[in-house]
Amino acid sequence: MTPDEAREKFSRRIQRCASCYVAFYVKDLWWADDGNYYCQHCHTDYPGVAVHFSDYAQDFDFSQLPSLHE
Ligand SMILES: [Zn+2]
Repeated sequence: MTPDEAREKFSRRIQRCASCYVAFYVKDLWWADDGNYYCQHCHTDYPGVAVHFSDYAQDFDFSQLPSLHE
């Protein structure tokens, strides 16, 4: 799996927003410094730092994640 393929695969994971519990693709969520994911409606309510998928995924090598190889 190339880093691009791993990023694509990770982006299509389903995650629940930690605030409203609605399920989204990871690529549509913000990743917060508490380790949770927040949707577009909730990330502004989170008091810490939250970054959108498009802001952290570009420089992250998802091919190193063991869970992507299952
Ligand atoms: Zn939400």
